[in-house]
Amino acid sequence: MGGTQYDLVVIGAGSGGVRASRMAAGFGARVAVIEERDLGGTCVNVGCVPKKLFVHGSQFRTDFSHAAGYGWELGEPSLDWSELRGNKDREIARLNRVYEGILGSAGVEIIEGHGRVEGPHTVCVGKRTLNTASILIATGSWPVMPAIPGIEHAISSNEAFHLAPLPERVLVVGGGYIAVEFAGIFQGLGCQVTQLYRGDLFLRRFDRDVRTFVAEEIRKKGVDLRFSMNVTSITLEGDTRVCRLTDGSELRVDCVLMATGRRPLTAGLGLEGAGVALNAQGGVVVNEDYVSSVPSILAVGDVIDRLQLTPVALAEGMYVARTRYGGLDVPRPDYANIPTAIFSQPPIGTVGLTEAQARVDHQVTIYRSSFRPLKLTMTDANERTMMKLVVDREDDRVLGCHMVGPEAGEIIQGLAIALKCGATKADFDQTVGIHPTAAEEFVTMRTAVQD
Ligand code: NDP
Repeated sequence: MGGTQYDLVVIGAGSGGVRASRMAAGFGARVAVIEERDLGGTCVNVGCVPKKLFVHGSQFRTDFSHAAGYGWELGEPSLDWSELRGNKDREIARLNRVYEGILGSAGVEIIEGHGRVEGPHTVCVGKRTLNTASILIATGSWPVMPAIPGIEHAISSNEAFHLAPLPERVLVVGGGYIAVEFAGIFQGLGCQVTQLYRGDLFLRRFDRDVRTFVAEEIRKKGVDLRFSMNVTSITLEGDTRVCRLTDGSELRVDCVLMATGRRPLTAGLGLEGAGVALNAQGGVVVNEDYVSSVPSILAVGDVIDRLQLTPVALAEGMYVARTRYGGLDVPRPDYANIPTAIFSQPPIGTVGLTEAQARVDHQVTIYRSSFRPLKLTMTDANERTMMKLVVDREDDRVLGCHMVGPEAGEIIQGLAIALKCGATKADFDQTVGIHPTAAEEFVTMRTAVQD
């Protein structure tokens, strides 16, 4: 690495890029990270973190309504949206500074601007040319906007974090993570929400029982959730977005949020010119050590188009830094049994196989339970919680855990460890519950669902 200015130049200071660069620098590598937007990438600025803050903010409406059952008398609550948005912006700005501090104290040089790969060891940013032994592409992903007439009148999740004012009527298009989360946020904040999904049941990759259960709960909250429906055009009448739907009907709203997937962000990086192979989605094709078709160019995170999840990008970035700069012999990131949560309202937590996936290679026994959470028994709320276990009938191993209900993400995180350890249903049964919690249901489900 002697003749180069840097050992590693990272393009993109999001979850994967920041983790890889600061760890590589910690191992003594000379590292620069290039970022054209805010430090922290999608997760910190227009993703996980502000989304979760908005989820918390939007849940107070329900909490206030439940409080009456516990004897609290509140006036009519009202939301100051600009206060919520402003406080969120301040928190994100604080995190940006934290990232700057972390990188700086690790000895990583931060370069603002658009990085462009000019060759296997050369990156240009503005007027500077950086000469480096290796390049790490960690540019993440970007929302996909469908090519329909009037799409310029719609927003993506990037803009949803900065709306002014808060729209009264919102149309959310899509049936994945972002659509379901934002439908819940807008609903909770008091907007009138319609959500469209083009297929017959949303959340395609999730367990079918989860999908039907959460659809029912979301409808109970008041979201107008419509399946087998899409938007075909949007026109503007004053400030109103007039949406034409596939059934020929018209929907008039103040905001259209397209949550229709995210694609790897590789345009304008010069990758193809440098000989880096990309897949059909524009994602960087890498081997199991995250090396692209050019041996000195690596990639991690959303840009490799595997799993668009922050903890996955972190694991990939750490693996690259530890193995290449720390000289460590660590296991490759394991993509099996990755838990995930959707912060819908109520939230979904899941780890392992869905029932349909499990049935492909296993004989399975299914345990399922649905109940009214204790906290709601003194309220008017009719919200229910659902839990499901998918168990291998032959060796008793738990193959999948699924939950819809409060704190689903928190609960499933713990169960993910059990699945990683290969826990059996007997292990679950022998685990003593914590009473009274919802989570104890996972260790007390005894009666299998009949096939
Ligand atoms: P998803 O892939 O989860 O969902 C995209 C949705 O849009 C699908 O329902 C898809 O339908 C639909 N869709 C795609 N194209 C069109 C179209 N032309 N017209 C109408 N509908 C369309 O993507 P998201 O944008 O929701 O999120 C991107 C990724 O970010 C997620 O997959 C996830 O990995 C990550 N993420 C994770 C979060 C978390 O961990 N809590 C939160 C938010 C995002 P179909 O199913 O039919 O293809």
